[in-house]
Amino acid sequence: MPTRPSKSNKAASKKKAAPKKKTAPQKKAAPQKKTASNKAVDRPTMIGSGRGRAALLKRLGAILKGLKTLYPTVTCALTHRNDFELLVATILSAQCTDERVNTVTPELFAKYPDPAALAQADPEEIERLVHSTGFFRNKARSLLGTAQRLTDHYGGQLPRDLAELITLPGVARKTANVVLGTAHGIASGIVVDTHVKRLTGRLGITAETTPEKIERELMVLLPDSEWIDFSHRLVWHGRKVCNARKPKCDECLLAPHCPSAFSA
Ligand code: SF4
Repeated sequence: MPTRPSKSNKAASKKKAAPKKKTAPQKKAAPQKKTASNKAVDRPTMIGSGRGRAALLKRLGAILKGLKTLYPTVTCALTHRNDFELLVATILSAQCTDERVNTVTPELFAKYPDPAALAQADPEEIERLVHSTGFFRNKARSLLGTAQRLTDHYGGQLPRDLAELITLPGVARKTANVVLGTAHGIASGIVVDTHVKRLTGRLGITAETTPEKIERELMVLLPDSEWIDFSHRLVWHGRKVCNARKPKCDECLLAPHCPSAFSA
């Protein structure tokens, strides 16, 4: 004969019978922006917390506003007419000024206007043409290898994907970001060159010192829509005002938001 449940048993059975709590529907993951791959760098989700982070974001907002006022429209200083020329110019710009690169590329582009032409070039002729940009043997080898790979694997077209671009000889993440961002408006990451590295340090945006870590932090702090132009603007500001040796803090619009003002 079944026994009558005691009070405590009753409560227990009531508990069991209680309807399941409704849980909030899971948010759908936001769709991945644009087509570029971010595979080469894992994107962190948060830098700092609490007041420190809030203060940094507020200051960063003021810096962004100031940079947009100073440099409303910006682009890459390397002369180019298409993504292939920009890729070549960016490879040549390693350890060299953009001005110097712009003096050698007109003849180079006239002789080798596309990957197919460059892939057939005499290595010594490329070396001669790019000699004044420094590291000319390595650069000539990279240009030739890149042109050959583009011709053999990509039908002479540049892939619009970071993970594929960095398989080309002489093309690292920074170069790929330059090409995708400037030539195609694809925010695959943030270009961190010597100016961006110096200025993000002076402006107290990051304490990181390697380009890859600086990029990771900036990618968290800035919305994707700012990634491309933020680099361009910092580069221009680094050239015009916040020079490596003698920053012109007395004429810098960013001075009120810069922890290094008059002491860099
Ligand atoms: S205030 Fe001086 S150190 Fe700071 S960004 Fe301007 S020029 Fe550079």
